[in-house]
Amino acid sequence: MDFFLDVPEEQLRREREKARELRKSQWWKNRIAAGCCHYCQTQVPPKELTLDHVVPLVRGGRSTRGNCVPACKECNSKKQSLLPMEWEEYLEKLGKS
Ligand SMILES: [Zn+2]
Repeated sequence: MDFFLDVPEEQLRREREKARELRKSQWWKNRIAAGCCHYCQTQVPPKELTLDHVVPLVRGGRSTRGNCVPACKECNSKKQSLLPMEWEEYLEKLGKS
């Protein structure tokens, strides 16, 4: 990623730890049980859904329930390879289709 904000390493570590805990929680299991990607709404097996931070941790996002959504592998890898602006465009296209 090439858009680092100045997020302290300690905060990143703490939020990644919280994300790990969140992944084990009943709340998360309920989220992925529906087998639906938050972004493209594609139905995928729960075990193929990944926990995605809507606002990435490196951009100051937190591992809160409001910031963590289930995403399919395709959306997840797109989100990581696209620039934030390109990702916005991708979401817009999804919304229109
Ligand atoms: Zn998706």
